[in-house]
Amino acid sequence: MYKIALIPGDGIGKEVIPAGQQILQALSGMESHLDFEFSAFDWGGDYYRLHHKMMPDEGLNALKGMDAILFGSAGDPDIPDHITLWGLRLKICQGFDQYANVRPTRILPGIESPLKLKHQADLDWVIIRENSEGEYSGVGGRVHAGLPIEVATDLSMMTRAGVERIMRYAFKVARSRAKKHLTIVTKSNAQRHAMVMWDEIGMQISQEFPDVRWDKELVDAATARMVNRPQTLDTMVATNLHADILSDLAAALAGSLGIAPTGNIDPERRYPSMFEPIHGSAFDIMGKGWANPIGTFWSCAMMLEHLNEQASAKRLMQAIERVTAQTRLHTRDLGGLATTAQVTQAVIDALQPSP
Ligand code: ATP
Repeated sequence: MYKIALIPGDGIGKEVIPAGQQILQALSGMESHLDFEFSAFDWGGDYYRLHHKMMPDEGLNALKGMDAILFGSAGDPDIPDHITLWGLRLKICQGFDQYANVRPTRILPGIESPLKLKHQADLDWVIIRENSEGEYSGVGGRVHAGLPIEVATDLSMMTRAGVERIMRYAFKVARSRAKKHLTIVTKSNAQRHAMVMWDEIGMQISQEFPDVRWDKELVDAATARMVNRPQTLDTMVATNLHADILSDLAAALAGSLGIAPTGNIDPERRYPSMFEPIHGSAFDIMGKGWANPIGTFWSCAMMLEHLNEQASAKRLMQAIERVTAQTRLHTRDLGGLATTAQVTQAVIDALQPSP
């Protein structure tokens, strides 16, 4: 029995997370050994309007005993973004030291990439984002607010322990993939302290993985390489800010934000890891039934992999791909007219073995 926390959050998170729950329930109905106990948490913008905080102070305690967390999105037009982000998602990521953010990207069958690719398989990446420090450490401050002498700082903070552990994790992921290739994304030409340490530690950790080929790329050049030579990339590791940007580019190149999944992982498994679609709350389409649930379903597959349920993860991924292959089952973000409910039902149907 896996204990799964559901945090739909805001906007279309409230539509895609129940769809994800339906998928997991359907899978568990088909596989006798797979059982889930769901606990739902109503944290997010509505909770903030009532309690002036995005989640309760003791919220992490309620999540601690869970096996995994399925998260929707946090973002509300009436609440500043830094409050929604730091008050919920980052509180969980940092509180549970989910230091590796993992974003697989590939072009699913039936989905068109804005890139002209010779083969769809030319774009098949995993981006590993350092998820606990760097540019988003939250270290900094503002003084003399509003005065001409106002000062504001956001300090990018990197620790040797933090860089070593993300590099080691990235090399392990690269080793687990067919190409066994890692690109270390850097900016050590302009940032001559922390990023130079980043490079040095990358080189040091590479020696533990003689079977993994690796190279180094400046982050600006990495964007061009993703567009012009996608087949030369496989696994990438980058800092919190760099990978944040690169992974949105990756999602767009793979067809739509609505498809892309992510996992916030505690590789040491001291705490529950958290899985979520990468899209935001998308208030413009909220309540219309148009949200693409595929990013959530793919996140559920990542969650199953993390729980070592490899066969179920594969079964779900195959069902997802059988559905994306049919353009009549595409939602509006992919140029179709299908609804969240129709796509969900189609994936449930596709989970059944073919007759
Ligand atoms: P945030 O909550 O971070 O402020 P947002 O509301 O700006 O996010 P994004 O996730 O950045 O939304 O997405 C931008 C636009 O892409 C949305 O406004 C929506 O139109 C579309 N979109 C995003 N996710 C989906 C989805 N799952 N299904 C359909 N359309 C989507």
